[in-house]
Amino acid sequence: MNIDVHCHFEQLPAELREKEIRRNIVAGVAVDYKSGEILLEYKKIYPNLMVCLGIHPEYPEKYGDYELVEKQIRENVSEISAIGEIGLPYFNLLEIEDMEKKADILKKAEIIFERFLKLAAELDLPVNLHCIEDSGEYAIRELEKYKIKKALFHWFEGDLSALEKIKGNGWNISVSPDVIYNKEYEKFVRNIPLEIITLESDGPWEYGGEIGIPSMTEKTADFLTKIYSKSKEEILEIANRNACVLFNIKND
Ligand SMILES: [Zn+2]
Repeated sequence: MNIDVHCHFEQLPAELREKEIRRNIVAGVAVDYKSGEILLEYKKIYPNLMVCLGIHPEYPEKYGDYELVEKQIRENVSEISAIGEIGLPYFNLLEIEDMEKKADILKKAEIIFERFLKLAAELDLPVNLHCIEDSGEYAIRELEKYKIKKALFHWFEGDLSALEKIKGNGWNISVSPDVIYNKEYEKFVRNIPLEIITLESDGPWEYGGEIGIPSMTEKTADFLTKIYSKSKEEILEIANRNACVLFNIKND
């Protein structure tokens, strides 16, 4: 089965959820405490769902959930596959003009990010990360500080030196279907070595007017054949294998 390493599974329309989880293994990433609770409920009925718990860094209004989410992670540690979605805000900060407010949000985000990394190190869990553009280098330093062994930089786009360090640390990057529609992103993806690639949908985020679903990993793999000169099957095999190592799962 193909593995979607980053999907907001609980946000998919019910009929797609049912259909997709039968055909794919899906890492469902929480954005806050409440979505984490829903994912934990789904886990009881969908064995192909891998639950990741965290707080999405682009939602500062959710940072107050931290204590609750830490408790949620500790209480469900045997049920979950990773801590995430965690990381640092980027898009949120672009929208704020007030420099003081910006600095305040970033500072809070960094404190929470550090607490989550400490927790991941303590519980020996992988992290499903939203650390893009400028925040890449900072995130890498923090991950190195806490000796995080398994990390996924979801939909990562940033500079090449950050990419080198991600590879050097044995971490992964997931490629989203956006590569099919966005020339700039495609240009960046061309630099990602195939050996660290995994595939994601970030569903229900839309691509070309279509709701992102786990099965889109096939479409992405098909597109990637033009970058890596491998067959679609070979690309899927490598990406799926990387995901299995990352989340410590079997996929027979
Ligand atoms: Zn996401």
